[in-house]
Amino acid sequence: MLTNSLDDEFMRRAISLSQQAMATGSGPPFGAVIVRGGGIVAEGLNCVHANHDPTAHAEIVAIRKACERLSSPFLEDCVIYSSSEPCPMCLSAIHWSRISAIYFATDREAAALAGFDDALLYAELQRPVALRQIPMVQVLPGEGQRTFDLWAENGHVAMQTRLEKNGRSEKPAPQRC
Ligand SMILES: [Zn+2]
Repeated sequence: MLTNSLDDEFMRRAISLSQQAMATGSGPPFGAVIVRGGGIVAEGLNCVHANHDPTAHAEIVAIRKACERLSSPFLEDCVIYSSSEPCPMCLSAIHWSRISAIYFATDREAAALAGFDDALLYAELQRPVALRQIPMVQVLPGEGQRTFDLWAENGHVAMQTRLEKNGRSEKPAPQRC
């Protein structure tokens, strides 16, 4: 994928946010910016320590803010600039949010050398459930299935109606870490 000077500008902002995380001690040095139509919709910096939240990675923080601002769980027409290659959790969130492209500065190898190694997670995803590090035990699958059956009958209709009713409107994102 070709990049241009605007990509450099947004990436410099993401890198600046990563340095802000380090300087303020909010978390490890990671930053992210979500862009739509050439403008920044939301920014995030790692707030794992500031928020006592292991999921407060820069990309997740930015996705939450962008979704809130756009009143939608989906960001199809947005792209994300991350100071480092998104970890498996953030990559998953990017997929769930339907962001259309990912730009990153440092890759997973550089992150690993800096002490942020996700190799275990990549390996875990390749392993069968029974062989994973954290035990995973199936309990009451039949009772759990009833919810899926209800969803198949009419649950998805109710959710679709709610999504359509909410629509998408822009509002200022509340300021928080
Ligand atoms: Zn992450």
